[in-house]
Amino acid sequence: DAHQLRRELQGMHGASYGRYKSLTGAWRFDGFTLQVQRVQPDPYAPASRVQVTVDAEHAGLPAELWSTPVRARALAGYLVRALHRQLGKSRLRVDAGGQQVLDRSSCQIRDGAVRVRMGIDMPGRGRTIDGRAAEDTLCDALPEAVETALRWSVADQQRAREFVDSVEDTHALRAALDELGLVAFVADGAILPRRSGIDERPLSGGVPFSSPESMRVTVRLPHRGEISGMGVPEGITLIVGGGFHGKSTLLRALEQGVYDHVPGDGRELVVARDDTVKIRSEDGRRVHRVDVSPFVSHLPTGADTRDFSTDNASGSTSQAAAITEAVEAGAGVLLVDEDTAATNLMIRDARMQALVAKDAEPLTPFVDLIRPLHATHGVSTVLVMGGSGDYMDVADQVLMLDAYRARDVTGRARELSAAQPTGRRSEAEGYPPLHHRVVEPRCIPTERPKIRARGTDALSIGESTVELRGVEQIVDPSQVTGIGLMLVSCARRGVLDGERSINEVLQVLAADIAERGAEAVDEKFVGDFAVPRPLEVAAALNRLRVLQVRDLRSR
Ligand code: ADP
Ligand code: MG
Repeated sequence: DAHQLRRELQGMHGASYGRYKSLTGAWRFDGFTLQVQRVQPDPYAPASRVQVTVDAEHAGLPAELWSTPVRARALAGYLVRALHRQLGKSRLRVDAGGQQVLDRSSCQIRDGAVRVRMGIDMPGRGRTIDGRAAEDTLCDALPEAVETALRWSVADQQRAREFVDSVEDTHALRAALDELGLVAFVADGAILPRRSGIDERPLSGGVPFSSPESMRVTVRLPHRGEISGMGVPEGITLIVGGGFHGKSTLLRALEQGVYDHVPGDGRELVVARDDTVKIRSEDGRRVHRVDVSPFVSHLPTGADTRDFSTDNASGSTSQAAAITEAVEAGAGVLLVDEDTAATNLMIRDARMQALVAKDAEPLTPFVDLIRPLHATHGVSTVLVMGGSGDYMDVADQVLMLDAYRARDVTGRARELSAAQPTGRRSEAEGYPPLHHRVVEPRCIPTERPKIRARGTDALSIGESTVELRGVEQIVDPSQVTGIGLMLVSCARRGVLDGERSINEVLQVLAADIAERGAEAVDEKFVGDFAVPRPLEVAAALNRLRVLQVRDLRSR
């Protein structure tokens, strides 16, 4: 038990570092169990891992706060943040996360227990054990932090309830979108801008969002009751406005609207449908056997663009591939920002059509495919485009940002479309049927390769590295680890076998996550990870340099 652990650590003081290993196993404390899961072999190795399990009833946590998967995730998100604050400068580290309330391995509430996983650099002096410091951390700081953060009687109960209710409201709001015929919703009063590119907290003094009356929708939420805001309908939505007027900030908030944000974030009531995917150009990426023919045909190299591969895509082909891959994976909403899009894939105006004949231009611009994509495949698009008026002809609604204020300018845009025709001809004859691909299962290692996240920029799986900089909806390094684990466990458990298309594989993953949560990602991994969206798993899969696929046509 705890006293025994104390004596062990005292006895180890000054011994060689390797003896720490003997601590592996379970130690019974007053009110919780400490499990030493993995001990580092030396002071410079990755941190050791410990797990604390507290009986939820013993901790006094009201059952109604963890009665559903959403509430359990929210309460875990609250508790892990409280614990993080309590651990402060101690050697124990817990993956509490940032502004998003993700399902993470560091804190799980299931089967009536709170389970917290932490990392600890076991203290040493050179290569000998510093038993006193270890005793301070594990036998004093840890129980104190657990008692303060995880025990209901001393918790800030009102804040905990508000946290859980807020996340549940966000979740309910997102779930209501479908029925309302919306792809996204931005509540009145929401704060969209962030402090900086590296500080995700809300910008103080940011202008609160206010919805144009014509797009205002009210929704009743379980806890907050009736709220109002801007509903973004299905179809094509164009966001225009002068530079620096807040267009990208709005789109970025929609991108992140697939996640639930912590109270006080400003985006608690900004949501987008679960199947929303941000598209961007990403030159240099690998593209493997993707049908980019809707956008790219007769390349000067003579390559078949229905089955297109390259190790070094251009801006336009990378974006064409991203669109095809997203739709194949099951995206129902695409988000595109002019700032990160390839201009030549977005527009081709009448003058350019006149100067460069169609048979000398491999690209068909998105402006001619955006409507067919919706008509044929039901895929909506929200597009920021302040630099070209050609999209006015194809938009269902046009939103203008004017000094951060949103205005509905659809009527005016219609008038201009009629009064000033662009003179351009459409270059597309509809959007062709999708090609579904199957993954060659053997291209993904199954023997528990080393999985490592490099921030949110890259993932390494064994020897291979996946660049994820272009996957902008990844917000947390723990998601990157989750993606890696999920890809490997997918291959290991045979999910990729049996000629399942990528789309079908993702459906299996989604169902598995819905049923088992973090366990669906990995059951044995003792490090930190967060449960990723299947769409990001697909994005990583598509960027894997070792990916091999077959087109289902050749089945
Ligand atoms: P655009 O894409 O229209 O050029 P951005 O979205 O990049 O504009 O915003 C320009 C600047 O204005 C950014 O620094 C952003 O943080 C800030 N900003 C955006 N929205 C708001 C707002 N509602 N209140 C205050 N500042 C904002
Ligand atoms: Mg911008």
